[in-house]
Amino acid sequence: MKVIRSVSELRQYSIEQQSNGRVVGFVPTMGYLHEGHTSLITRASVECDVVITSLFVNPTQFAPHEDFDSYPRDFEHDYNLAKKADCDVLFVPSREEMYPYGESTSLSVGDLAYKIEGKFRPHFFDGVATVVAKLFNAALPNKAFFGQKDYQQSLVVKSLSRDMLMGVEIVVCPIVRETNGLAMSSRNKYLTDEQKDNAKILFKSLVATKEYIESGIRNRKKINAYLHDMLRRLDGLKIDYAIAADSNNLDEPNDFEEGSQVVLLIGAVLGKTRLIDNLLVKVPIEKFNEDDRFEEGL
Ligand code: AMP
Repeated sequence: MKVIRSVSELRQYSIEQQSNGRVVGFVPTMGYLHEGHTSLITRASVECDVVITSLFVNPTQFAPHEDFDSYPRDFEHDYNLAKKADCDVLFVPSREEMYPYGESTSLSVGDLAYKIEGKFRPHFFDGVATVVAKLFNAALPNKAFFGQKDYQQSLVVKSLSRDMLMGVEIVVCPIVRETNGLAMSSRNKYLTDEQKDNAKILFKSLVATKEYIESGIRNRKKINAYLHDMLRRLDGLKIDYAIAADSNNLDEPNDFEEGSQVVLLIGAVLGKTRLIDNLLVKVPIEKFNEDDRFEEGL
């Protein structure tokens, strides 16, 4: 596995690969890799001829009070995991390499950036869109792989590629979880063992709410209340949001349509650690009941 630190070298590498007919896959990360990240690298190596993984803790997506300085970093650990997952190139740019002229030009995402997670992190999605656009311009990938774990981010990146005519195919991969259901995250390192155990309430609540919807409940307020009630069982969990939304555009209708797909989204703080998680649910189509037909005299 090659380590590349400069944008021009990476671009040259990617152009060379593509001129030899190879499909280039790209997995952007902030490093401190875990099995969630390596699942994306493995998927990319199945679908593409070469895989580039980036390690870059992007300063522009952190607010001043957030954990940019303390975000975990461990190059050797990342190198070993990426290599094992079949990565061909590890791209490790410095801040100066990614922002050589500071931050004068940036992208703005629109409505999607300011709802749900964006209400709590108003600069976040514009920062993500800007760095992803820069990384795409450096890696020039055919396909890029993102995790469903950051659901709203995956929608933002799909719009980015579509709206900016980038032509990069965005592949969204399933959430990898610990055995107790907790979604893997580099930030789980901040949790104590007891908090890790307690944090399973997020996935449990998502699953219970999925079953609630599958039992025929389509009213959004009822669904949100159910999800909140489940989460409130854990003392000390500060819920930023716990909501159901349309999985395509994050709209929040009064009632979800039969056959539509809902995403249940949670953002919450446990101790000092911010956790996010989500689950997709198909709203059932009510079956036509033969007995009803008889009673209605049809
Ligand atoms: P991050 O390093 O946290 O910015 O994440 C880099 C990529 O890995 C993003 O596309 C994330 O959605 C994805 N990712 C992070 N955690 C997981 C997980 N538990 N399962 C699947 N993908 C994940």
